[in-house]
Amino acid sequence: MEQLTPEQFKRYSRQIMLMEFGLDGQTRLHNAHAVIFGLGGLGSPVSVYLTAAGVGRLTLVDFDTVDESNLQRQIVHRESSVGQPKVESAKTTLQALNRWTRIDTFNGVPDEDTLDNLISGADVVLDCTDNFDARFAINAACARARVPLVSAAAIRWEGQLSVFDFTDPDCPCYQCLYKDASMEGMTCAHSGVMSPVVGMMGSMQALEAIKLLAGLPTLKGKLLLVDGLTMQFRTLTLPKDPACPVCHPD
Ligand SMILES: [Zn+2]
Repeated sequence: MEQLTPEQFKRYSRQIMLMEFGLDGQTRLHNAHAVIFGLGGLGSPVSVYLTAAGVGRLTLVDFDTVDESNLQRQIVHRESSVGQPKVESAKTTLQALNRWTRIDTFNGVPDEDTLDNLISGADVVLDCTDNFDARFAINAACARARVPLVSAAAIRWEGQLSVFDFTDPDCPCYQCLYKDASMEGMTCAHSGVMSPVVGMMGSMQALEAIKLLAGLPTLKGKLLLVDGLTMQFRTLTLPKDPACPVCHPD
């Protein structure tokens, strides 16, 4: 693994001084590759925190352009980037934040082969998309590549968060949880969303990814439910579906 320079050691010192994380955790982050699908409400805090925290390499994937109605919550984008591809707008912000993070982009909707290529060799995938088709496709690709997946969602005042660790055969996956692709996907465009709720969920998603990369305990096998209106947090244990076509061992 590539070691930190003295300048990087100083930059990340507030994390390195955490006993559970330390220089080992920071070095792991420095050598890690995270793939972020969706640079919207969740992908904004996810990409900003992973870049600031010192993840060595990010791949940003999105098909959309920045719209003025995104700026209410998608804090990685700026008024000046309205009309630009989201991956380019995000890369500009992130690269200005941390020149040590290598940032690659894919502007488009990846097909199955492209998905496999994008996450090949990655250490963690973050699903920050807002539709079920993409979520099932990303889950299946992570299962094929055995790359852990940190998945979050936010709508109205509510959020969900889980870690699906495909390196652990006992861990359930996204497909175990939702099973049915015919569920009507709710989107922020139709149902609305309160701005800091995506910030809360995305920040926690980044935290789970950092802990996973550092070898610390995560929400693996559990689902966190957040209600931003009442400020109630609940954690459920997720059962693994023995008939799941994605994660059930042959
Ligand atoms: Zn499954």
